[in-house]
Amino acid sequence: MAAAASPTRVTVLSGGVGGARFLQGLLHWSAQRVAAGGGPVEVSVVANTGDDMWVHGLKVCPDLDTVMYTLGGGIDTERGWGRTDETWHAVEELKAYGVEPTWFGLGDRDLATHLVRTQMLEAGYPLSAVTEALCRRWQPGVRLLPMTDDRVETHVAIPDAEAPSGQRVVHFQEYWIRLRAEVPALAVVPVGIDGATPAPGVVEAIETADLVLLPPSNPIVSVGTILGVPGIDEAVRRTPAPVVGLSPIVAGRHVRGMAQQLLESRGIEVSAAGVGLHYGARPTGFLDGWLVDESDAGQVVALEEGGIRARAVPLMMTDPDATAAMVRAAVDLAGSTR
Ligand code: GDP
Ligand code: CA
Repeated sequence: MAAAASPTRVTVLSGGVGGARFLQGLLHWSAQRVAAGGGPVEVSVVANTGDDMWVHGLKVCPDLDTVMYTLGGGIDTERGWGRTDETWHAVEELKAYGVEPTWFGLGDRDLATHLVRTQMLEAGYPLSAVTEALCRRWQPGVRLLPMTDDRVETHVAIPDAEAPSGQRVVHFQEYWIRLRAEVPALAVVPVGIDGATPAPGVVEAIETADLVLLPPSNPIVSVGTILGVPGIDEAVRRTPAPVVGLSPIVAGRHVRGMAQQLLESRGIEVSAAGVGLHYGARPTGFLDGWLVDESDAGQVVALEEGGIRARAVPLMMTDPDATAAMVRAAVDLAGSTR
C-alpha cells in the first residue's frame, strides 16, 4: 500500500453540501502544508450525479454545482447550496404560469449555469466536458469529475394508499425538497446505474491516488450512489492507496440532511460504527480507516473488530480550521493503516 503520510494526489468521492465543506477543509489543510514548506496537494473529486434532474427543460446537477460554487467562492453559505446574492424572479414567473414543479428552487444567477450546461449537452458534449468548462470560470482548485457521463437518477419509493401497489416512486429531489424526507423511504433506486460507466478520468483518479477519502457525505444517496457505478466500486477496492472515511453520523444522528431515514430504510444501524461497517473493510468492502466523532469513541472497538482501523476525533465542520484538522486526522489514520 502506498504511503499516505504526505499524500500528493488525493481523490475524494463527494456528495453536495457535506462533501463541499469537507473539500474546503482539505484545500485549507493543503494551504497550511504549503505554508509550512510542504508540497501542494492535487485533489480530484468524483461527484455524485444521482441527484441530477431535468427541470423546465434544464439539466440541473446539484452536487456538482454545490462543490463548484463552494470551492469557487460563489455559494450562499447560509443555505449551503445555490448562489450568493441570489434573486428568484424566474421561478416566481414560472409559478405565475402554473408551471410545475413549483417546489424546486432555481435562482436567477444559478439558472445561467443550467442554461450553459444544457446548451453544451444538447450540442453533444458529455457532462464531464461541460463540468470542466463551467469550472474554467469558477476555478475550484480541484479537478471536478462527475461520477459518470450517463444519466443516473435516484428515485425513492414512498407509501401511497391510493396506488394499486400501495406505493409510488418520486425523484430524490422531490422526496427531499417537497416531502422533506418526512415520509418513509420504502426503497432508494438509482435508476440507470447498472448500465452507467465511470466518466473519463474517474477510475484513473482512484487508482493513481496516494489517498482516497470518503467525506462525511450521505452514505446511501451520495457515496453509495458513486460506489454503485460499475467499475468505481472495483477501483476503490483495488487501489493501492489507503481508503479512509469520516462518519456523517454523530452521536446517533445525521448532522444535516436525511441520512437517518435512508439508513433506517436499508436496515443499517444509524451510528458511526453502523455506517463504517456498512462500507466494510477492504477488500470485500471499501475502507481501511474510519474516523468517528469523539462522542462516538465507544464505537472504535466494534469497527476495529470489523477490520477497520478507527479513531475518534472532533468531526464537526464548523469552520475551515476545524475541517482541516479532520483532514489531518484522516491523513494520519491513513498513514497508520497496513
Ligand atoms: P448533500 O448532497 O448536500 O446531501 O451533501 P453530502 O451527501 O455531501 O453530505 C451530507 C451529509 O453530511 C449528511 O449526512 C450530514 O450528516 C453530513 N454532515 C454535514 N455536516 C457535517 C459535519 O459538520 N460533520 C459531520 N461528521 N457530518 C456532516
Ligand atoms: Ca446531494
